[in-house]
Amino acid sequence: MALVSCPECQREVSNVATACPHCGYPLDLKPEVTPIELTGKKWKLFQAWGCGLICLALIVGIPMAASGESAGEGLAILGTLLGFSFFIVGRLGGWWHHG
Ligand SMILES: [Zn+2]
Repeated sequence: MALVSCPECQREVSNVATACPHCGYPLDLKPEVTPIELTGKKWKLFQAWGCGLICLALIVGIPMAASGESAGEGLAILGTLLGFSFFIVGRLGGWWHHG
């Protein structure tokens, strides 16, 4: 919580207040913006994890599989599938919540 100056009467108001307690000026714009930004970041994080898992599968799994290690094949397939799932969840979540 921080203090901001009211645009109407210039007196100090809490930034979580929905209206200025001194003059009644509505300050309800800021609390609307913050949750949307947080939700957006959550879905971006899903996409980032998805990209990371796909990169891991490509960089680690495929060379391992190519050099004959059986664990590499599983890692490549699992990493790609999980990565795509995370990425799609991130895309759908973002689309569902933010249009
Ligand atoms: Zn005011």
